[in-house]
Amino acid sequence: MLIHEAIYDIDELLQENMHMHTALFSPCGRPEAVFEDMIAAAVQNGLKRIAFTDHVQERDINLVRKILHTYQPLRDAYAADIKVYIGAELSAFDTDKFTLQYADLSTEFNLYACNHYHVYSWAQPEDRTPQGYKEHNKKTMQNLIRSGKCDCIAHPFVDSYIRDDAIRNDEHPLTAAWTDNELGDILTLAKQHEVAWELSPKVVVNDPVFGRRLYNLGKEVGSVFTMGTDAHNLTGVNTSRFKEDYKRILLY
Ligand SMILES: [Zn+2]
Ligand SMILES: [Zn+2]
Repeated sequence: MLIHEAIYDIDELLQENMHMHTALFSPCGRPEAVFEDMIAAAVQNGLKRIAFTDHVQERDINLVRKILHTYQPLRDAYAADIKVYIGAELSAFDTDKFTLQYADLSTEFNLYACNHYHVYSWAQPEDRTPQGYKEHNKKTMQNLIRSGKCDCIAHPFVDSYIRDDAIRNDEHPLTAAWTDNELGDILTLAKQHEVAWELSPKVVVNDPVFGRRLYNLGKEVGSVFTMGTDAHNLTGVNTSRFKEDYKRILLY
């Protein structure tokens, strides 16, 4: 399912924030990250579309159900001001294991994290080199994309979750290990299966060389990008603070 068609206009893209957490369901959410207040902040910032994407680690289907039942009735009050999706940040925690894998249940926006390597229960590759992590992450994303369960991949290609200074550094060896061919292939696969890519500030701003490659190759392929800040508090809802950086880095 596509949330929207491909948008390559940065001003337009930054009118959405498709990755937001609340304190009620995400332990990492700040106390101020209250559903209604997050919506109010989004409206105040002129956003047109937002998605709530609280964490669901491993296979906790009941939590997915609880999130939908709690928030779906509440968001109707805002229909005139902003489009609100009740999604979840689901987990692809190994190459062939992910939330909702066997469930006949879906959120309105299945945003899947494929690289929470800092989470204790996340599978790590046997080969813990940049090449090894790249292959593990690639296989995870390929299987997830083919599954038909995924609407969008959360913060793809972020290397800072890997707790190893040999990988998590300014040289970005993990993203450098991706060849243009490999990147083109996975972008094409996602396009075929209508899977979008979050254009995360954690990549664009922190790893601009790769961010630009991802964006330009995605444009060639026709990839759908979404904007998502991974907001855990009220100020995190705002996307316009990234506008200058995104234009400088991506429109090169
Ligand atoms: Zn995440
Ligand atoms: Zn998140």
